[in-house]
Amino acid sequence: MKIFPTQIETYLNCPRKYHFGRDPELRKKYFKSSPHLVLGNAVHDALQYFFDITKVKIPDRTYETLCDLLRDAWGGRGLFARNSWKQKRAREEAFGDDRETEKAWGQKGLNILYRFFNTQDISAVPLTAEQFHELRLTDGVILGGKVDRIDRLEDGSLVVIDYKTGKPPRQRDQDEIAEKDLQLAAYALLVARKFRGKVSRCSYLYLNDELEVGYEPDDDLLSRKEAQLTEICTRMVKAWDDDDFPATPNPLCGWCDFREICAEGQEYQKQRDAAVGAQSDLPF
Ligand code: SF4
Repeated sequence: MKIFPTQIETYLNCPRKYHFGRDPELRKKYFKSSPHLVLGNAVHDALQYFFDITKVKIPDRTYETLCDLLRDAWGGRGLFARNSWKQKRAREEAFGDDRETEKAWGQKGLNILYRFFNTQDISAVPLTAEQFHELRLTDGVILGGKVDRIDRLEDGSLVVIDYKTGKPPRQRDQDEIAEKDLQLAAYALLVARKFRGKVSRCSYLYLNDELEVGYEPDDDLLSRKEAQLTEICTRMVKAWDDDDFPATPNPLCGWCDFREICAEGQEYQKQRDAAVGAQSDLPF
């Protein structure tokens, strides 16, 4: 069974949501794109091609090139023409006929890239960008994941970067992130094993805030994370054997694509909305 770090995160948040998300029919019916998703995917795609030396030579790495790549990725055209049907559908779901809103989100993407262009090393040549990597975690589990970017430093060590277009966490303490984080640790593990090298740093790069948040994963930390990931993945495999995916209502129910078919999530959200409504004493 193949398990991705994002699925682990979803499973830990709510096993029912993870289960729904693995069903292609339910996904097709209920999963909806959003402005955030369109923006995030287009920015990732633009950066992937921007740093691909076979597609954009270093002298051609200008801000205008980056903007063109974003527009092409957004519209599913040019280098991204293979995605044209998928992008058309994603844009329709996210914006409908509202061209003004789509324009505002597109501008947001251009602004993110402007900050990126002016603050990051744009002559870097990553080892890989937006590539899938896999690792056999147990006899029955392959841990797989798409790593946004891997750089190799002069000393031979590897740096793992995960781009984020959303808001950074309130908690930015490096040690606490290293202790709690599983996603970056999973990527670091994948990279360390695949390239048989030392990962000197793994980090989230919050593009909108020009903020890098990460840690140095030493061997001891990676071993602990591997044990933790193995334990959770083993639980996930057992959940499939036992068909045991309880709903665990939580504050993210409000954004869950499957709430329409989840009685527990609906009830939780109803109570939450009522509590928020009761607190509100607006005079208008
Ligand atoms: S609505 Fe809430 S409880 Fe239901 S599946 Fe989604 S996250 Fe889980």
